[in-house]
Amino acid sequence: MDRDGPIRDRLLRLLDRIDRAAARAGRRREDVRLIAASKAQPVERLIEAREAGVTAFGENYVQEAEAKVPALPGVEWHFIGRLQRNKAGKAVALFAWIDTVDSIRLLRDVARRAGEAGRVVPVLVEVNLAGEAGKAGVPPEGLPELLAAAAGLPGVRVRGLLAMPPMAADPEESRPWFARLRELLVTHAGRGGPAGALTELSMGMSHDFETAIEEGATMVRIGTALFGSRMGRR
Ligand SMILES: *Cc1c(COP(=O)(O)O)cnc(C)c1O
Repeated sequence: MDRDGPIRDRLLRLLDRIDRAAARAGRRREDVRLIAASKAQPVERLIEAREAGVTAFGENYVQEAEAKVPALPGVEWHFIGRLQRNKAGKAVALFAWIDTVDSIRLLRDVARRAGEAGRVVPVLVEVNLAGEAGKAGVPPEGLPELLAAAAGLPGVRVRGLLAMPPMAADPEESRPWFARLRELLVTHAGRGGPAGALTELSMGMSHDFETAIEEGATMVRIGTALFGSRMGRR
């Protein structure tokens, strides 16, 4: 199972690679957060990662998170999957951040549930950069309308953007997409409403996070490079 060594060793290697990518880009290391993408990993692996120093986890399924969240108090949970509108209430109860909002209707549901819970939920807007069919995310042209809607919803605060560029084996192919997401953030930075500017860029996974950091990622979502393979599961 631990073909590549324990999680602690992989984490150290990963943090070192993050450090070096940040340095190459002249960026501060502390401006890049590691979000451990822990879908399909048993809770024992998350606890191992937590003990090694991981402080933020991303989960894709509300139901899976319901079993994991109580076992890891004190960590920052990010929802990074596709959120069904009827699960917005549960997601607000479980997650600190919702990183994949991609419609005004979903935004309203999250805001309403957040209001009921007495929270202001930080969210990211997922962008479908390449207009890929069947993929989540708002088209870049849809951002102004969604951000304008968010500005009128006290239960949510849009903190930035998330994207998954088209699949490519070579991370260099993702670079222009990462740069594009950063441009969109710059363009819309002032549209966070009275609560302030958009500053977060969630981009980069195990195979391309260094390129994403070079292009400005402030959050990288990393699964296999930290936990090892999901062994065929999702
Ligand atoms: C699984 C997943 C990741 C991590 O993918 P790896 O290639 O295993 O690092 C990142 N983001 C999302 C949305 C995911 O579902």
